[in-house]
Amino acid sequence: MGNVDEGQTAEAGAGMKLNADASDGAEVLSLRPSDLPSPPQATARVIQACSDPKIGAQGLAQIVGSDPVLTAELLRIVNSAFFGLKREVRSAVQAVTILGNRALRNLALCLAVRDSVRPGAIPGFDVMSFWEEGIRRAVSAKLVANSIGFDPDEAFTIGLLQDFGMLALVFARPQLSPVWSELSVLTPEERRRREQAIFGTTHDRVGLVLAKTWSLPPGIALAMACHHDPDADGLPAHHREACRIAYVADHMAAVFSCNTAEAAITRCRASLSDTFAITAEDADALLAQVPASVEEAAVSLGLRVSVQVKYDDIMRLATKTLVAENRSYQDLTRALEQAIREKDALARQLQEANRRLEQLAYYDALTGLINRRRFDEVLSSEIARHSRSGAPMTLVMVDLDNFKSVNDTYGHPFGDQVLVAVAGVLQDSLRQTDVKARIGGEEICLLLPETNAEAAKPVVASARAAIEKLMIRTPQMRVPITASFGACAWAGRSLDHASIETTIATLLQTADKALYDSKRAGRNRVTWRAYPAPVA
Ligand code: GH3
Ligand code: MG
Ligand code: MG
Repeated sequence: MGNVDEGQTAEAGAGMKLNADASDGAEVLSLRPSDLPSPPQATARVIQACSDPKIGAQGLAQIVGSDPVLTAELLRIVNSAFFGLKREVRSAVQAVTILGNRALRNLALCLAVRDSVRPGAIPGFDVMSFWEEGIRRAVSAKLVANSIGFDPDEAFTIGLLQDFGMLALVFARPQLSPVWSELSVLTPEERRRREQAIFGTTHDRVGLVLAKTWSLPPGIALAMACHHDPDADGLPAHHREACRIAYVADHMAAVFSCNTAEAAITRCRASLSDTFAITAEDADALLAQVPASVEEAAVSLGLRVSVQVKYDDIMRLATKTLVAENRSYQDLTRALEQAIREKDALARQLQEANRRLEQLAYYDALTGLINRRRFDEVLSSEIARHSRSGAPMTLVMVDLDNFKSVNDTYGHPFGDQVLVAVAGVLQDSLRQTDVKARIGGEEICLLLPETNAEAAKPVVASARAAIEKLMIRTPQMRVPITASFGACAWAGRSLDHASIETTIATLLQTADKALYDSKRAGRNRVTWRAYPAPVA
């Protein structure tokens, strides 16, 4: 805590004021650090390393490179259309050299906030819909930054993080999470007033508490704290610009989420004109780019968003509502028919876009683990990496025992709850750098990089034991849950020069056979099988 103003003497005034506000926000809610979301370990290490002058580009690459999921994710984003680099980046070392520490830190931050609250972690709260809003502010901030000559990546990160305090509020008070659907359709100011009434504090104040717990850089922390009042006294000049960008980004995003579109458009144009002297025409041109940029950014961050309504359609709808009262009955009928036709076309587009996004998404929405498609990619890059280094790795298949009867007895929603809990146990009992993927209905696959059977045995055994201890509750009773495991270690070298594909297939088959050994032997156990020797 408390490094927003550390070593920033020029910012002492603003920092002190902000410190007071921050403890206020925490006191009203009586938040403990454990109430707030925390960054995943690997990304936390990257964020820290980026702001540590003693760690050079090489050290940073090493930290990133030690986590296969983070590395694969960073490389995918860096190579996506969203980043628009000319040549392909193939390793963490290259990524650090090409992007520099600051851009890497921004990217790591985006991934850390995304992963800090797992989908399904807050019952009844749709984390994805929250991030959709965040992405909208992020691309809005980036668009404005581009047009005024501010660092666009920094602006994107600020936009994504500026309302993070809101997520922390519902994370700390999950029973209040249903109010999100009410808040998300209000203008930024109305929303802040309602938050004060409902939570007794606001997202910008909680945002600052969060920024300090996460040790975020001062520029980002101040934007999180001051985006509703970018003209606040004592704000250092070089950070004021970031706060202003966040302020207008809020109004731009509101155009797409508010239930009063015409008012939101007017407010947005006014904020762009007052803050950056951007004309109404230029404002419209920026807004028109938001929906497509949201879809692109969501894909690159591996998040699912709903199909985005075009700005033209919002404007048309806004004008329609304004003039509708003066229309004749006939006009209205015609307009209605047209609207129905448009709605059908939109529904078809929506279906198609959802299908596309579903394919592109990398995370399983229920458990938050990576999905099959993602796992296949990570597995082949890990096999390639290990065969280069010759280091061993372990693959483990996990399948819940008698899960069909759990579903049949207690219902499918309870079964879902079990899956979420088991995924959580695996996240907690394995290392951050171990890969955990949901590869089928109730099947999970684990990949332990640079780990031989001897080292993996106690880890896998304790994961099995942790699931057995889980005992999930229904209102009436506690339900015992167990899982069977099948494991196989691979030496990192294929003696018969087998191709990567053959090695993957053999490894998966062997672990699968071991899993069925466990099932046959009575379930709730781990069976190991040796990686088969090549046929002579
Ligand atoms: P075994 O110990 O041999 O693995 O028995 P089982 O009952 O677990 O195996 P089976 O493959 O027959 O059943 C798997 C069950 O998993 C059936 C299916 O309804 C359930 N399942 C698959 N995906 C989901 C899901 O997303 N949610 C819930 N609640 N259940 C699921
Ligand atoms: Mg099963
Ligand atoms: Mg099964």
